[in-house]
Amino acid sequence: LRDNIKRLVPYSSARDEFKGEASILLDANENAFGSPYARNYNRYPDPLQHRVKEKLHRIKGVPVENIFLGNGSDEAIDILFRAFCEPGRDNVILVPPTYGMYEVSANINNVAYKKVNLTIDYQLDLDGIAEAIDAHTKLIFICSPNNPTGNSIRRQDIETILVNFDGIVVVDEAYINFSKQPSFTTDLAEFPNLVVLQTLSKAWGLAALRLGMAFANKEIIAVFNKIKPPYNINQATQDIVLEALEGVEIVNEWIKEVVGEREKLSAALQVLPQVTHVTPSDANFILVKLEEPRALYNFLVDKGIIVRDRSKVELCEGCLRLTIGTPAENKTLLKEVKRFYNG
Ligand code: PMP
Repeated sequence: LRDNIKRLVPYSSARDEFKGEASILLDANENAFGSPYARNYNRYPDPLQHRVKEKLHRIKGVPVENIFLGNGSDEAIDILFRAFCEPGRDNVILVPPTYGMYEVSANINNVAYKKVNLTIDYQLDLDGIAEAIDAHTKLIFICSPNNPTGNSIRRQDIETILVNFDGIVVVDEAYINFSKQPSFTTDLAEFPNLVVLQTLSKAWGLAALRLGMAFANKEIIAVFNKIKPPYNINQATQDIVLEALEGVEIVNEWIKEVVGEREKLSAALQVLPQVTHVTPSDANFILVKLEEPRALYNFLVDKGIIVRDRSKVELCEGCLRLTIGTPAENKTLLKEVKRFYNG
């Protein structure tokens, strides 16, 4: 932990101290009349989101004391830097090509990073990582399934790092619901240095609400709660998420449909002579290596279709990343790709 965080006295509100039921709330300088335009939003929300965590506990089997909720998992990423990394002294390890926010967050926090590229089959370079670790390495970020490549990182390799590295291993499972691989949330008791990130932005279809989750041992979660802004999850988000979490079965059906569409689109692209490679994906997107990626990207933009151009990213040369859409959207995409190559 950073020294200033060890010393930090967190913000506390009068309602943290008062645990009973009260009918007159005159402690927090809210507007007791409420808003004429939005009802029931005049009070500050529950800072520790007890009801949402209770429901997540029932869905994921992780105890409430091991759950942190953030304004997107991006907030959890930022808090990891602020909790554990002394700017100008400590460093973290990134394994590109991977999710871009780890590097941005490191830069915002003025924390150095070392990059150890994934191997050509997009797995961890364990020797390279072992060499890169020094006495000031605090965090290693591993994204599995990985963005932008879509594949899962071998579980055994992640466990090797968890066992051999003294610092914190962050396993970002933003896309875990699309994968057949089990989540690392069941391994929290075994690995005290494990932080698992998940989000409601992908499979749950709630990107606009901004709700990310971090799962870790209760000491780490307590540190996260000490640092976070007091009311980081707004009331509207808490209300809607509580309802949305009732829909596990429908969400699971849609995940199956996305996975089916992913396999269909991958197969259809693979047979095109201009497509060199489709990386097998455990996520809701595919990384496709093809001819003239930038020209195809521009052609699609002209047709009102936006994909992600990763063609200049190291180890993703010549690739576009395609998010799986609705069946109709995927069909249109495929039609336009064929039209680009065949006229
Ligand atoms: N992790 C990964 C790997 C992601 O791809 C994303 C979103 N693109 C995030 C985290 C951030 O998710 P959130 O919406 O929860 O901030």
